[in-house]
Amino acid sequence: MSGRLYVVATPIGNIKDITIRALDVLREVDLILCEDTRRTRQLLSHYGISNELLSYNEHNERERIPLVLSYLKEGKEIALVSDAGTPGISDPGYRLVREARIKGFEVLSVPGPSAIIAALSVSGLPTDRFVFEGFLPRRKGKRLKRLEFLKNEDRTIIIYESVHRIERTLQEILEVIGDREIAVCRELTKVFEEVKYGKLSTIINEGITKKGEFVIVLRGKDES
Ligand code: SAM
Repeated sequence: MSGRLYVVATPIGNIKDITIRALDVLREVDLILCEDTRRTRQLLSHYGISNELLSYNEHNERERIPLVLSYLKEGKEIALVSDAGTPGISDPGYRLVREARIKGFEVLSVPGPSAIIAALSVSGLPTDRFVFEGFLPRRKGKRLKRLEFLKNEDRTIIIYESVHRIERTLQEILEVIGDREIAVCRELTKVFEEVKYGKLSTIINEGITKKGEFVIVLRGKDES
């Protein structure tokens, strides 16, 4: 008898963006691991699902992993969700998935929303090749070094950013990488969804609405 771990994507804003299969899995598993039990409880109760929840987040993941592996060994079916989008993508999940794989448990994908793909698909920038940068480092020296590294990247570059740092990051991209074509995607799938597309300098001059969550999609270096 061997358990299974389901990695389940949940909405990034619009609560209707969840697959029928995800709802089935969340209803049927023995246990759901989630970042914030209150938040996941809200999602589940919207769909009339009541199931056992256990917190699994950046603060407790190291101590949770042996426990979760022991449940899998007992044959339990476990779902992993994050607060929004796909677990493991700039969210907890990777370490557990790795350990489960190393131990030989089945790990199954229940795919759905992720802000990366949502942003890229509406950006108007080339989608055939891209790189995901996640969040840039917080410390200025490291951040500028990272931008310097990205300067020669010829694939479309996707960066996650918070409301607190969006203006500063755009300014630093302009200074280090230059005035490229960009899409600044805000509040995707939500009521105030907005994509500002154009030259970076124009977008900075026009100003950004400083509210919500952001994905920056930046054109890669021209090959010429
Ligand atoms: N696991 C998530 C995913 O699959 O996209 C990402 C989680 S990460 C902690 C949160 C970041 O994702 C936000 O700071 C923002 O950069 C981006 N993000 C998530 N939802 C978004 C949305 N609705 N609109 C724009 N950006 C979003």
